[in-house]
Amino acid sequence: MDHEIRKLAWQIAAHAEWQAMSGARAIPEGLAPIETAGHVPEAATPAPTAAVRAESVDEGSVAVSTPAVASPAASGRAGDVEVATTLDGLRGAIGDCRLCRLAGGRTNIVFGVGNPRARLMFVGEGPGRDEDLKGEPFVGRAGMLLTDIIEKGMRLSRSDVYICNVVKCRPPDNRNPEPDEVEACSPFLRRQIALVQPEAIVALGKFAAQTLLATKTPIMRLRGTWFAYEGVPLMPTLHPAYLLRNPADKKLVWQDIKLVMAKIGLAP
Ligand code: SF4
Repeated sequence: MDHEIRKLAWQIAAHAEWQAMSGARAIPEGLAPIETAGHVPEAATPAPTAAVRAESVDEGSVAVSTPAVASPAASGRAGDVEVATTLDGLRGAIGDCRLCRLAGGRTNIVFGVGNPRARLMFVGEGPGRDEDLKGEPFVGRAGMLLTDIIEKGMRLSRSDVYICNVVKCRPPDNRNPEPDEVEACSPFLRRQIALVQPEAIVALGKFAAQTLLATKTPIMRLRGTWFAYEGVPLMPTLHPAYLLRNPADKKLVWQDIKLVMAKIGLAP
């Protein structure tokens, strides 16, 4: 019970800080509505979504909506996350963010790297030790494998695509981020996607895929199927760190990547 009370108090404090950060003068009445796969944010030009579908699985249809998150209040203040018009502006608006407890253990906020107009965006779970130290996503062994997928598999360069994570700070001991941490950080990812306007997103691994699709469906049943996040086609696939432990499954990722290449018009 004490834990729940402390968690609730922390959430209220974080929300109040978020309001102050975004320049709000009043607490909004409720949480942002859940947006459906068909919703297209005004700031984003949608890629064709005709091939995007929700997969029906045994336990029911997979949700393709984004999780409900505490939406930043409207703000006319320059630098505000919701009104940032560039990735640099968004990074500046995030500043030395302390909206969740992950701030306490990080060395660097790992915002994201790559082409601000990338046609393809990779989204992972959160920074690991190497990423935390360097301030850049996917730079460890798993990152090297992701780079191979991009460069040797897709014949692109890392600088052609955009790479980021669901949460921007390293969870302690590389644990999964908690739901309230994801909720606190979600507006940053959503704005990143709206600004980059990718033609497709690749969700790397179970956590990123399940979080972005608001589902508990196992990654092995999600991968290889097109979904949508904020109106952008999304392909779940296996995380490079998993592939380091299970190299035989690289062929599954290659199957997924070929679908992605076809979606954005790249020859396999
Ligand atoms: S994980 Fe996101 S919300 Fe939490 S402190 Fe880092 S930047 Fe802020």
